[in-house]
This record gives sequence, C-alpha cells and structure tokens, in this order.
Amino acid sequence: MDLVIIGAGPAGLTAGIYAVRAGLKAVVLEKNIVGGQVALTPVVENYPGFSTVPGKQLMDIMSEHAREYLPVNEGEGVESITLGDIAAGETITLTTNRGIYSAKAVILATGSAYRQIGVPGETRYFGRGINYCASCDGYLYKGKKVAIIGGGNTALTDALHLKNLGVDVTVIHRRDTFRAQKPLQDSLAREEIPVIWNTAVETIEGDEKRVTSLRLRNLKDDSITDLPVDGCFIAIGQVPSTDLAKTLGVKIKEDGFVEVDTAMRTNVPHVYAAGDLTGGLQQIVTAIGEGSIAAMSAFEDISNPYWKDK
Ligand code: NAP
Repeated sequence: MDLVIIGAGPAGLTAGIYAVRAGLKAVVLEKNIVGGQVALTPVVENYPGFSTVPGKQLMDIMSEHAREYLPVNEGEGVESITLGDIAAGETITLTTNRGIYSAKAVILATGSAYRQIGVPGETRYFGRGINYCASCDGYLYKGKKVAIIGGGNTALTDALHLKNLGVDVTVIHRRDTFRAQKPLQDSLAREEIPVIWNTAVETIEGDEKRVTSLRLRNLKDDSITDLPVDGCFIAIGQVPSTDLAKTLGVKIKEDGFVEVDTAMRTNVPHVYAAGDLTGGLQQIVTAIGEGSIAAMSAFEDISNPYWKDK
C-alpha cells in the first residue's frame, strides 16, 4: 500500500480521489460513517455547484465518487500507528480493528468536533435551532432573533457576520470580558450588538419542532431569565482529533490544531494533514483543497516525479 488516508470527510475522500488518479495505491479508513461533520449538517448552502443540499446527501455523492477509485472502509478505526525509519525505506504500520496496513505515507484527515455546552436541549434541537457554524447556517436566520454563546474570536466574528446578514443577534458570555481581539470587540460595540454578560445557558427550550427560548442563569446573582429566540449559535471552540497525530510525533500548534506547511506536510516525513484538523477556515471547500494538496505531496514524496528535480 502506498498511502493510507485516515478519515472519510471531504478532505480524506478528496485526497483518495487525487492519490489514485496520480497512480498511488490507497485506501480511506473511517472509524464511523463517511461524511464527517458535514454529514451531520442539515443543509449546506455554500458549496459551489449546489445552491442547497442536505449535508448527508452531499457526502453520499462525494463518497460514491471516491469509491470509483479506492476502497472507503467505514467502521474501520486505526487503533495504533508506528512510524518506521522512512529515510531508510521503512514503512508506516497501522493496526485497525480489522487488520494491519503497511504504507509509505499517511494522510491524517481526522477532523474536529465542535465543543458543546452540554445542557439539556442541545442535542435534541441540533439542526432545529441549535447550530455551530454561522458561515454555514447563518443565512437561514435572516430577519430572525438569534443568540450566540461564547466570548472568543469565533463568537464575535460570527455575531458580526450574522448582523451583516440581517439577523437580530445577541451575544451571551459567561464572564464580564471577552477574550476576542480588541478590533472585534470594537466592531461589536460599533454595530450595537447587545451582550448579556456573566451568563450561562441553563437549558434550551423548544416545542416538538424547534428551539423557542433559552433559560439563562446570571452567574453573579443566580437569577434566572428566559430569552425567546428562533435559534442559537454555539461558538465555544473546537476539539481537534489529534490523538493519532500526537502518537506519530506530529507538531501541534498552540491552538491545538496540527501544524502543516503550504503543501500539507507535517513535521514528520511522509505524514500529511488536511481538513478541519489543521484549523483555519474549516469549510468543505478548504478541506477539499487541502485534501488534494496533501495527496499530491504524498505522490511527490513517494514517487519522486520528474518535476521535483527541476
Ligand atoms: P476560544 O478562543 O477557545 O474561545 C472560546 C470561548 O468560549 C471563550 O470565550 C470561552 O469563555 C467560551 N467558552 C468555552 N467553554 C464554554 C462553555 N462550556 N460555556 C460557555 N462558554 C464557554 O475559541 P474560538 O473563539 O472558537 O477560537 C478558536 C481559535 O480560532 C482561536 O485561536 C481564535 O483566535 C481563532 N479564530 C480567529 C478568528 C479571527 O482571527 N478573526 C476568527 C475565529 C477564530 P472564557 O473566555 O470565559 O474562557
């Protein structure tokens, strides 16, 4: 095997297509089902070529396309990974719940998960008023009332984005200061976006269909209020899936995501990373771009094509 790609989201599937079309023998291993976080996204409206498409449907189309080229093994998780001496021609050994692979290169496309606040109603109303990605789903709330939870750069960037879309947005933060950059705080004030300080969401309330309000607790005086909303964006950070990367000695950035160069190479020879795992914009289109670049870098490093000598 030339290349093992771990993760069957947009980055991993695209890497698979590009790798095989470049002549590599490759496989995609996915411990769950194909699609990554996109498969959990009710509607995608910013993937060029599809004005609106359910996330699951988009990923089914993408995985069918990938399967024309290589196996995409769902339910096959990598349990351990050992790096041989690549310079001496040794390979990388991966043990899964189904077998052992020996590969010349590995692309990590293991993604990340949105951090949850973990209150009642959050899971129940996901996709029905509860959202984690304003650039993905903000447009659905034009003219409606929405709360954003968080006080970091994402929460404030999202709040400004939603306001710009014509959403009636309020920020809810658990402390009395933001950790977001000053220019974002200044923009929030300039746009007169209201902030509810020192406040935590206690429960997410709704009817049988959708979210209708948030029950809030003031953390200073313990008072409880209800805030009627049409939706809520939770922007309290992401948890990248870096366990395998760490096992391989891949360098992790201060923000917890994997460090790559512009060719998606990590600091470990023949180990690449692509998609949400590398941080940044974290969109389907960027994951796809990174997946294709990672595959071509793996191809270059394995095959030493003629253009590398120039
Ligand atoms: P972050 O910087 O870790 O901020 C998370 C925010 O959520 C914090 O304000 C935190 O509150 C709050 N929070 C965490 N857990 C919570 C909980 N259980 N309940 C309520 N609130 C909770 O995450 P981020 O804003 O997603 O940013 C991640 C990285 O991306 C950062 O490095 C950021 O700079 C970068 N980023 C940059 C830009 C930009 O440059 N425009 C835009 C987006 C993201 P506390 O403050 O009280 O801890």
